[in-house]
Amino acid sequence: MVNPTSNFSRQPRVISNEYVTEECPQHGSVLRRDVEQFDGTDLRMPCSRCRWDALHREPRDSELYKAAAAAKRAELINTLLIGSGITPRFRDCTLDNFNTDGDQAKVRALATCETYVDRFEDNYRDGRSLILSGNVGTGKTHLGSAMAQAVVRQYRAKAVIVSIAEIVRVAKGTMTKGATYDERDVIEELAGADLLIVDEIGAQRGSEYELGILHEVIDRRYQLVVPTVVISNLLVDDLKAYIGERALDRLRQGGGKAVGFTWESARWHA
Ligand SMILES: [Zn+2]
Repeated sequence: MVNPTSNFSRQPRVISNEYVTEECPQHGSVLRRDVEQFDGTDLRMPCSRCRWDALHREPRDSELYKAAAAAKRAELINTLLIGSGITPRFRDCTLDNFNTDGDQAKVRALATCETYVDRFEDNYRDGRSLILSGNVGTGKTHLGSAMAQAVVRQYRAKAVIVSIAEIVRVAKGTMTKGATYDERDVIEELAGADLLIVDEIGAQRGSEYELGILHEVIDRRYQLVVPTVVISNLLVDDLKAYIGERALDRLRQGGGKAVGFTWESARWHA
């Protein structure tokens, strides 16, 4: 089911004055929608009858067909990117513009993330996870957002990045009076992504509740053999102590790697 209160898979907004009536040379007066785009702009959707005709009546090698197919693909990618949970602050973060400053640890971390995306079909098939760990301000969220975006663009897969605090906030919403969803819905929604990236694990010492939810998410995805990327400020040994050996083992199944970000925080050099 679609969980209306989470942002794990938001749909693009149809911008205010909603439908605009315009004259189509072929179809007369038609309704057109302005739809929110991942880059922050709005895009007016084409006449849907023209789109249909181009896709179903034009030969596959015609310019009309190709343009309509490309627009449809772009629309799907936009929907996936809006639903990815990548925030406006991180939407311009790509693997190409990650600044390593020539630092060997950053170079290695970037290479690992690039390889993970390049081999995503195998990683998806085998449910192979990845752990990014290291101190605050080292660009982990940049890399996480960049991986989510790359997986959407290259494979049209459903990738979601979300902080553990946000998962807890949504899961605790099930306890409010009149809640229309329960904890199982939240777990299933997070389990439904092709790639789930959980950020900021251990940023603050989590409650039993936080750990319980995290274990359930990791376990459910492990059972479904789908990959999870875990991002944490804790170093791997501390992460093991924090989330427990069993959860860490699940993340390492099938050759899941852990990459340490041991360089100094970039924020301190600003
Ligand atoms: Zn038309």
